[in-house]
Amino acid sequence: MLKDQDRIFTNIYGLKDKSLRGAMARGHWDGTKQLLEKGRDWIVNEVKASGLRGRGGAGFPTGLKWSFMPKESDGRPHYLVVNADESEPGTCKDRDIMRHDPHTLIEGCVVASFAMGAHTAFIYVRGEFIREREALQAAIDECYDAGLLGKNNKLGYDIDIVVHHGAGAYICGEETALLESLEGKKGQPRLKPPFPANMGLYGCPTTVNNVESIAVTPTILRRGAAWYTGFGRQNNHGTKLYSISGHVNRPCTVEEAMSIPFHELIEKHCGGIRGGWDNLLAVIPGGSSVPCVPGAQMKDAIMDYDGLRELGSGLGTAAVIVMDKSTDIVKAIWRLSAFYKHESCGQCTPCREGTGWMMRVMERMVKGNAQKREIDMLFQVSKQIEGHTICALGDAAAWPVQGLIKHFRPEMEKRIDQYTANAMAHGAVLEA
Ligand code: NAD
Ligand code: SF4
Repeated sequence: MLKDQDRIFTNIYGLKDKSLRGAMARGHWDGTKQLLEKGRDWIVNEVKASGLRGRGGAGFPTGLKWSFMPKESDGRPHYLVVNADESEPGTCKDRDIMRHDPHTLIEGCVVASFAMGAHTAFIYVRGEFIREREALQAAIDECYDAGLLGKNNKLGYDIDIVVHHGAGAYICGEETALLESLEGKKGQPRLKPPFPANMGLYGCPTTVNNVESIAVTPTILRRGAAWYTGFGRQNNHGTKLYSISGHVNRPCTVEEAMSIPFHELIEKHCGGIRGGWDNLLAVIPGGSSVPCVPGAQMKDAIMDYDGLRELGSGLGTAAVIVMDKSTDIVKAIWRLSAFYKHESCGQCTPCREGTGWMMRVMERMVKGNAQKREIDMLFQVSKQIEGHTICALGDAAAWPVQGLIKHFRPEMEKRIDQYTANAMAHGAVLEA
C-alpha cells in the first residue's frame, strides 16, 4: 500500500485547507521557480524518464507528447489545454482534484506551459462541474493575487490560466472536439493527423493533457523521475487515482501505486466486496469505455495498463465499477449502449447508425425478445463500428457489448430461451 508521504494528492478528500496557504504548507508551490530555471529540455526529459502516461484514459506517454511541440516559435502562439471535461461513466478523480486540491493542477499548468513554450493555458471544465469550476477559479485568483500568475510574475515566466466552462456534452472530452468547442464551434472531433501539437487550438501548436497528468508533474520534478518509477511495473510506473464505485462496502477515490493487485485495492480501501468475494459477478476496471471482466478473472488482476490488457480490458481512466451477483449484467451493458447512442456526435455513419442499432438490439436482449443468431449479428455490427470511426467513441460503444457477448453469452441465451418458452406457452407462432 502507498505510504502517506508518497501521495501526491494530499487533500483528495477535502479534509484540509485547500487555499494557497494550505497547499504551500503541504509542499506544493515549493521551489517552482527553481524548477523552471532548470530549463525546458530538463523538464521534458524528466517527465519522459518518469514514465508518466496520460491519465485521461489512453495512456500515451506524457513526456513524449510534450516533446512533439515545436521548440522554436514560427510566430504562432503555443497553448496548453487541460482536459477537465471528465465525463466517462464511473470516473470522478479529476473532479476531486479540482474541488479539493486545485493548486496541484495550477502549479502543473505553470510547469507544463513553460516546458512547451505556452503563455496561455486553458482549462476546459465539464459543464456539470459548477462547484469544481468555482473552487478552481478561486484558487487561480489567489495565485494572481500572490503574483504567481500573470505578466511579470514572481516565477519569471508570463503565464495566464483561463477556465472555460463546457456545456455538458460527453464528446467534448475528445481532445479535438474539445478544441472545436473552445473555439466556439459545435463540439465534433477532427480527423487526426494532424495532431494538436502541429495544428491545435486556433491552428496553433497545442498540447491537450488530462487534469491528473498535469497535476502530478510538479511533484515528479521535485522528487525526481527515479522516485516516480519506483512505483508500479515496467511501462506502468507511478501513482494513480482509482475511483471505485458500485458494489463495494465503501466506494472511494484513492491514490495508490500503479500495479496494485485488485484484491488489495478493494480490501484495503473499500472494505471488500458487498456480500464477500464469492458474490462478485463482474468488474468494468477502467471506465465505461473498456470491456467488463468476469469476477473470477478479476480476483488476481494487476491494476495497470498491461495487467488489464492481458485480461482483454484496459486501465482506461481507472474508474473501477464493481458489480455483484444482484446485477442484471445485460441491462447494465444495454444502459451503456444507450449512453453512447445518446452521446454520439453523429458525424460518421458507423457510429451514428451503429450505436442506435446496437442499443435497440440490446434492448430486446434485455427482455430476451430476440433470436440466438442475433447475438452473433450484434457482435459483427460492433466489429464494423470498432476501428471505423473518426474518434474513439465508436470503439468505446463497441467494446462493452463485445465484452458482454464474450463473457456472458449463456446469460443472454438463457433470457432468449425463457422468453421463447413463455411466448410458446401463450400460443405464439415464432419465426424460424
Ligand atoms: P488516442 O490514443 O487517440 O490519443 C491519446 C493522446 O495521444 C492524444 O492526446 C493524441 O493526440 C496523442 N497521440 C496519439 N497518437 C499520436 C501520434 N502518433 N502523434 C502525436 N500524438 C499522438 O486516445 P483518445 O481518443 O485521446 O482517448 C481515448 C481514451 O479516452 C479512451 O480509451 C477512454 O479511456 C478515455 N476517455 C476518458 C474520458 C474521461 O472522462 N477522462 C472520457 C471518455 C474517454
Ligand atoms: Fe462522432 Fe461517433 Fe464519429 Fe466520434 S465516432 S466523430 S462521436 S460519430
